[in-house]
Amino acid sequence: MKHIIILGDGMADLPVERLGGKTLLQYAHKPIMDQLAREGRCGRLVTVPEGFPPGSEVANTAILGYDLNKVYEGRGPLEAASIGYEMADDDLAIRCNIITLEDGKIITHNGGNLETDDARILIDYLNEELAKPINEQEGCERVKFITGIQYRHLLVIKGGNKHIVCAPPHDHPNEEWRPLLVKADESVCYDSVATSTNRLSAQATADLLNTLILRSQELLPKHPYNQAKAAKGERQANSIWPWSGGYRPSMLTLQQQYSEIKNGTVISAVDLIRGIGHYAGLKIVEVEGATGLADTNYEGKAQAAINALKTDDFVFVHVEASDEAGHDGDLELKLKTIEYLDQRLIAPIYKEVETWSEPVCIAVLPDHLTPVEQRIHVGQPVPFLIWHRGIQADQVQQYDEVSCVNGSYGLLKLQEFMQELMKIK
Ligand SMILES: [Zn+2]
Repeated sequence: MKHIIILGDGMADLPVERLGGKTLLQYAHKPIMDQLAREGRCGRLVTVPEGFPPGSEVANTAILGYDLNKVYEGRGPLEAASIGYEMADDDLAIRCNIITLEDGKIITHNGGNLETDDARILIDYLNEELAKPINEQEGCERVKFITGIQYRHLLVIKGGNKHIVCAPPHDHPNEEWRPLLVKADESVCYDSVATSTNRLSAQATADLLNTLILRSQELLPKHPYNQAKAAKGERQANSIWPWSGGYRPSMLTLQQQYSEIKNGTVISAVDLIRGIGHYAGLKIVEVEGATGLADTNYEGKAQAAINALKTDDFVFVHVEASDEAGHDGDLELKLKTIEYLDQRLIAPIYKEVETWSEPVCIAVLPDHLTPVEQRIHVGQPVPFLIWHRGIQADQVQQYDEVSCVNGSYGLLKLQEFMQELMKIK
């Protein structure tokens, strides 16, 4: 049996008054999901472990069967994998935004909509100036900036300590930046961490990062890119801002854990999800026109998934569009993203694999709720369906938050979903 997980990011919702008290999954026209639920088995899944934020990286890692308490290392290492930077064991990888500061405050977390081509020039400049020993500046030989996408980049500190407290810049618009500088995490006995692993202490890591932030604020405004922006009265990309750092995740690959998975593929437009897939041992397949929005290339992703299933035993297709529509609070658009997922992605995959002699098991679920009326992630249990040819159906007739309460899987927790899926052989 081959397996495919089709994940509609943030697709689950809460009852909406405008829809007569229905959720979006209850209201949307989604004949294929409903058919698979009717012919298959359903349940609900807790995707966010206690003590973790309901982030996509957390929920998707749990869905793939990993214990977050053992493997969670923040965004930096996931983005490193997505960019193609293979982390060494002593690396600390940190997400590094290029942001806009004005009058001592964080104005935007995105550097005034910095484009990747311009960002690459700024990152090269920062490497030139900061990633080499200058004026006996302690620690600079440990530093490497790596270009990512738009304003989202990576900073690697060789021997850096992850027990630091950083402020995600998107959480602090219009706040003074100085009190938000990096600090050592005082809840951790970091001296013992440093000596046992040969890493810098947390305080030394925080000091080094703060030095880099301050130096970037001297250097970036002098760069011709920002000089031109200033001349036009536009926002400058005038400071780095590191956050969410971690070490290389100690994740066993899916192949190491499940004998029925010999090779697998992840298909997603989102770097964090690709990063999880990389550490899980999955190939990352690019799909042209995959945008992470409602205008994404659904047909292209469906075809890529079908192609992957021809050679691989396991495919993880992640579609971001519903989450974005939820964050935008756009009810009509979010309904459309659910219907697109049904008719333009799940339908072609189902219709193709249904004819194969080798059976394929299809699972459909979201990672968390992104309710259109709350516009933020909510970590409640999500509905899931599992279908394959010959499966013994339960009584659930439709795929949605309410119907799946009566599913024969009941309420599963975290890694149990992947364990149940892999029992289907
Ligand atoms: Zn998500």
